[in-house]
Amino acid sequence: MIRDPAKNPAFLKLDLYCKGMRLGDSCLIEDDGGRPILRTRAGLGSGLEAVLPGDLWTNIPVAEPFAQQSPYVLERVDGDYVIHRDGKPVAPITLAPLPNWYERRTTSGKPMRTVGTLQGTYLGVYPAKVCEYWVKGSERPERTNCKFCSVGLNLGIDDADGKAVDEVVEVARAAWLESGITYVDFNTGHYEGHTYLDFLEPYIRAIKQETGLLIGVQTPPHPDLTRYDRLKAMGVNRVSFCFEIFDPQRFVEVCPGKHEAYGLDTYLKAVEYCASLSDFTKLSGEPWVANGEIIAGLEPKESSIAAIDWLTERGAIPTVCVFRPLKNTDYEHLPPPDIDEVLPVYQRLYQKCMEHDLPIGLAPNIHVSLVMLPEEARMLQDDPNRFRFKEWKLAAKRQAFRAKFALEQRAKRRAFAAAHA
Ligand code: SF4
Repeated sequence: MIRDPAKNPAFLKLDLYCKGMRLGDSCLIEDDGGRPILRTRAGLGSGLEAVLPGDLWTNIPVAEPFAQQSPYVLERVDGDYVIHRDGKPVAPITLAPLPNWYERRTTSGKPMRTVGTLQGTYLGVYPAKVCEYWVKGSERPERTNCKFCSVGLNLGIDDADGKAVDEVVEVARAAWLESGITYVDFNTGHYEGHTYLDFLEPYIRAIKQETGLLIGVQTPPHPDLTRYDRLKAMGVNRVSFCFEIFDPQRFVEVCPGKHEAYGLDTYLKAVEYCASLSDFTKLSGEPWVANGEIIAGLEPKESSIAAIDWLTERGAIPTVCVFRPLKNTDYEHLPPPDIDEVLPVYQRLYQKCMEHDLPIGLAPNIHVSLVMLPEEARMLQDDPNRFRFKEWKLAAKRQAFRAKFALEQRAKRRAFAAAHA
C-alpha cells in the first residue's frame, strides 16, 4: 500500500520528484489555466505545479532529461489531466491555477510574476541581486555556487533583477487579496558584509504591517545571532537555514561557497540558537519556528537521517528537498535519487517531528509544492496511526491557532478596506 502510487498520493508525490514525468501530446497546460513552467525557485524547482489527490501540491520535474525516461506520463483525457504509468491511469491531477495577477504589471511596470511567484499556495520572493557565490571578482576568481543551484541561471530570465519594497508589497497585496495566501517566504543568497537581513527588514516590516501575513526568512546564518531576536520581535514567524548536506566532507564538495564563507558549524549553531527561541506551549503572540533545510539524494540516506535526528532533538523542523539535477547546473549530469534512498528519510522525518512534539502543519492554507512536508510523510509510515494521541493534540493546537489567525486576518482586511475605500 505504501508504495502504490495509485493508492498513496504521498508516495506518488515522492516518486514523481525522483522520476519526473513526461507530458503527453494531449496536454495544453497554459491553455487550460495552468501555471507556466518557471525556473525561478532557489535551486531545485523547475517543473509543473499541480495538485495530486489528497490535496497534495507538487512541482513535478518535466523539463530535465531524466524526466523523459520516466514511466509516468501526463495525458489529457476528456479535458481532465490524468497521470498514467505503463499505459494505466494512476491518479487524476489538477493544474495549480494561474493567479489572475501573474501577468499584471506593478506600478513600476514589471510583470508581477517576476517579482514574486506562488510556490504551491504561498508567495516566494527572491528580492535581492544574485547570490555572490555566482559572481567572479578579485576576491572570488572562480564562482563558488552550490553545485545543484540554478539561481545564477534564473535572474533576469524568469525573475526580475532587484525588487523595490513597494513592488514586493504590491505583489504581496495582490496575492493576499486575490489568491488568499497566508504566508510570504523571503529568500536570499550570500552577500559580502552579511547585509541580507538589513536588506530584508524593510520588506518584512511593510508586509507584516499591512497584511499581518505569516513571514519566513531564508538566508545564510548571520554572525550576530541577536539579529534573530530582532526578527522575532518584528513578527517574523519562521527562519530557515539551508545547510543542505550534513556530512561535513560532502558539504565542502557540494557547497564550496557556504563552506568558505561560513562553514557547516556556523549553520548548525544558528539553527540551534533560533530553535532555542521557540516556545511551542504558547499560543499567544506570533509563532516562531526554526527550520534546517537539507537535500535528500546528495549524500547517503544515513547522513540525511542523522540530520533529521540532530535538528528535531533541538526543536528545529527539518525541511527535506529531493535533489533535482536541473538543466545547466554543475550537477546536471548526476542522476536523480532512487526512491529507495529517499523514502526512509521521509519516514524518519514524520516520526521524529511527532516524537519531539514539533508543531507541524499548524498554519492554514500552506501547501508546498517543492518539498514533501513532514505531515504529508505520515502517509509513508508502516503504521500511520502510531502517533494518534499526539496527532489529536496537534489537531487541537492547529484548530486554536487557525481560529486566532483567522480573526487577526479579518481585522487586517477590514483595516485595509477602510484605508482604501
Ligand atoms: S547559497 Fe548556494 S543555493 Fe543559495 S543561492 Fe547561493 S549558490 Fe544557490
